[in-house]
Amino acid sequence: MSSEQDKNSTEAPHNDGALFAPVDPFKVGIQGCCPRCGHGKLFDGLLSIKPRCSACNLDYAFADAGDGPAVFVILIVGFIVIGLVLWMQVNYAPPIWVYIVLFAPLTIILSLLSLRWCKGILIALQYRNNAAEGRISGD
Ligand SMILES: [Zn+2]
Repeated sequence: MSSEQDKNSTEAPHNDGALFAPVDPFKVGIQGCCPRCGHGKLFDGLLSIKPRCSACNLDYAFADAGDGPAVFVILIVGFIVIGLVLWMQVNYAPPIWVYIVLFAPLTIILSLLSLRWCKGILIALQYRNNAAEGRISGD
């Protein structure tokens, strides 16, 4: 690998030369904090991302988790809820309204909570690993 390729592969679009102690991406992701400093808030509301960190001024324009959080939430929450539904049907066989009253709110609450956590974790991992879309080199 040439020195030019080394330079391009380690250069992050959000690298402004600021030095911060490394933070645990899972901890800051679940807390919804900045992936660089760990202090400023990442989210503006439930799931929308703020334009930049209020503590270290990191531009969050790089943050694009795409469909990743939704895929994890669908698979994990779906596995938990369907497992509980099957277990309840086999052991108790309650009427259908019991499923609606119990599992509709459970599904919504688990999905919203884990979607926020997943999005925070994936953005923190994206920052830590300098992940970005592939680009064709101009060389
Ligand atoms: Zn920050």
